[in-house]
Amino acid sequence: MPSAELVIPGHRGQLSILAQSSHGVNATAPLSLTDLAFDDAGNLTLTLPAAAPILSDTGYRSLTVPAATVRPWLTVLGRRVQDGAARPWKPPTPDPKALRHVNCDIVACAALTYDDGPAQATTPRLLTMLEKAGVGATFFAVGGAANYSPQLVKAEHDAGFTVGNHTWSHPDLRRLSPGAVVDQIQRTNIAVKAATREEPTLMRPPFGGVDQMVRQNVGMPIIFWSVDSLDWLTRDPAKYIPAIMRQVSPGAIVLEHDIHATTVDHQVELIADLQRAGYTLVTVPQLFSGIDLQPGQMYGCRGHGRGCTPSPGR
Ligand code: ZN
Repeated sequence: MPSAELVIPGHRGQLSILAQSSHGVNATAPLSLTDLAFDDAGNLTLTLPAAAPILSDTGYRSLTVPAATVRPWLTVLGRRVQDGAARPWKPPTPDPKALRHVNCDIVACAALTYDDGPAQATTPRLLTMLEKAGVGATFFAVGGAANYSPQLVKAEHDAGFTVGNHTWSHPDLRRLSPGAVVDQIQRTNIAVKAATREEPTLMRPPFGGVDQMVRQNVGMPIIFWSVDSLDWLTRDPAKYIPAIMRQVSPGAIVLEHDIHATTVDHQVELIADLQRAGYTLVTVPQLFSGIDLQPGQMYGCRGHGRGCTPSPGR
C-alpha cells in the first residue's frame, strides 16, 4: 500500500507541519508522505528524504509520532497496520514431533520396532520411556487391538512414532486365501486410520510368514527385521538385551513386542546400551529415507548387509 493511504487526507498536512517544525524549518511546500513506518509499539516514524524542501543539507531526518497521537489521523487501513505492527510476526515454533532428517548412510542408525500391540497394560509405559528418551520407534499394530484401544494408537502416532500394519488377527498369511490376506490388511488400515487419521504405509507379516501369494496381495512394503531379540521367548532382559547388542549393526531393524512387561520394563536399559554403542534410534521411515519402498517388496535393514537395501547409487 502507498504510505499516504495510511493517513486520512485531511491530516496529512498535520504530519507535514509536525515534521517541519521538529527540524526547525519552515517550508511552504507540503511534504510527500512516502516513507512511513510503524514500530512494534505502534509509533509512526516519518522519514524525510534528503531532497525534501526543508532540508538544505544532505542526509535523512525523521520524526516519530507517538502511537496515541497519530491514531486519530489514521485511515481504517492505517489502524489495521498499526495494530498489526504492535503484534510482531513470530516464526512458528518447529514441531518437535516432526520427522527429523537423519542420514543413515553416515550415521549408525537402528530402528526399534514393537509388534502385536497396542496393549493397555504395557504400551503406555513404553510410550513414556520412548518419549523421554527422545528416540524414534515403530509400532506394528494388530488391527483388532488397535480397534479396541484406538487412543493408544493415536498416542503412538501423535508422539511422532510410526504405526504400521501387523494384520487384523495375527494369522500366518500363507495359510489364507488371497482375498482373506487383502481383508486382514485393509481392516487393519481402516482401524489405524480411524485412530490416527493416517493410513499405515508399512506392514509386517506375523511370524515373518511370506510367500509369493502374500507378496502379491499385501499391497504395502513388507518390513522384516535383521535383529531378532526373541524377547517373547526368553522374557528375560539378561538374555534378549545381549542378543540384540550381539546382532545389531548400522541400518538394523530390531524386533521386539510391546505386549510383554519383561520387554517394556527394560527398554530404558536397551536404549542406553544402543546409544552408548553409537546408534541413533530412528523410525522405519527415517531408516529408509531416500529409498522408494515398493508394495510387496521385503525390507529387513538398510545398507549392504545380507538382506539389506542400500541407498540408490551406492
Ligand atoms: Zn506378531
